[in-house]
Amino acid sequence: MRIESVEPFLLHVPVTSGGIADGAHALEKWGAPGVRITTACGRVGTGYTGTHAHLPTDRAIALLIAEAYGPLLIGRDPREVRALWSDLAHHPPIRWVGRAGLTHLALAAIDVALWDLKAQEADQPLWRLLGGAADTRLEAYDTDGGWLDRDDARLVDEARLRTDQGYRSVKIKVGSEEPARDLRRVEAVREALPDGARLMVDANGSWDRARALEVGRRLAEFDVTWIEEPIAFDDLPGHVALARALSTPIALGEQLYTTDAFRDFIAADAVHYVQADAVRLAGVTEWWTVADLAHAHGKPVVPHIGDMMQVHLHLAWAHPACTLLEHIPWMRSCFVEPATVQDGRFVRPERPGAGTALRDEALERWGVRV
Ligand code: MG
Repeated sequence: MRIESVEPFLLHVPVTSGGIADGAHALEKWGAPGVRITTACGRVGTGYTGTHAHLPTDRAIALLIAEAYGPLLIGRDPREVRALWSDLAHHPPIRWVGRAGLTHLALAAIDVALWDLKAQEADQPLWRLLGGAADTRLEAYDTDGGWLDRDDARLVDEARLRTDQGYRSVKIKVGSEEPARDLRRVEAVREALPDGARLMVDANGSWDRARALEVGRRLAEFDVTWIEEPIAFDDLPGHVALARALSTPIALGEQLYTTDAFRDFIAADAVHYVQADAVRLAGVTEWWTVADLAHAHGKPVVPHIGDMMQVHLHLAWAHPACTLLEHIPWMRSCFVEPATVQDGRFVRPERPGAGTALRDEALERWGVRV
């Protein structure tokens, strides 16, 4: 089994209702720069990362895939994925320009495609190749009803709609200019949720330390499961101080790039819920290391977005630290087997591979020239 070609692709897919906003971002489209790796026997592995559909940086990722990493893969056996990961991650001229950032997103797409090939070759869904159990119960939590630009009435309606659909956990965005607006909305959604439902909040790093302390303390009265990214995602001492001062647990990790970064946050007890993202970490290989690290410290792993990053469904299905996975259904139309939630739980994926296989129509409909 030898790799014959490495071809990048780029999708720009519209988000819910034509646009969303949180405390730090406003988006109309989601970007998925990715790669299709084809073997000499004609098998195709697919992997992709996630972006804000910003064409210049998406093209830079595609260029790294095709011209920096691609030549290192030609002729290699994709089943040797961990060895390949080491060779690519430590290739001196690439590592010299970035052990994080664009190079890492490109490597993530490649590593996911290699695991997709390995699982296809084994004729198993990736979760089974990784040792997961068929009867795993993986709860979904919804984020797509909780955007910061929705007015209060819509926010409450969306939360009620999700719980009517069977969700037992929802997340809403905070980080408004006025903290009073955030607190008012948290209170309104908490009152609308049935008894026992979980409510999380996500500030997307939009607060400074003082604001995070002020709002975080007041959130304690609304039984919030976690506060996500209260301050800048890489502010380690700031998160240590918040984790000590607040009674509500801290969640973060969707913007951490490396095992080293997670090691430091976990060792310092600056995070309670570890949101490792396989397409910002460099793929399945590095994600599994971080999930094991969190698990060894007794911390749950809740991957960032299970639909836009389909591989997370397989990883969360297989790893013992995962019982909960985010759901934001922006890219359902792109995949042969999209992540599906029924009665608040993910449906078990059945097709061999990592869940990343694209429908032909996806490239015709949402493909952008790289
Ligand atoms: Mg988040």
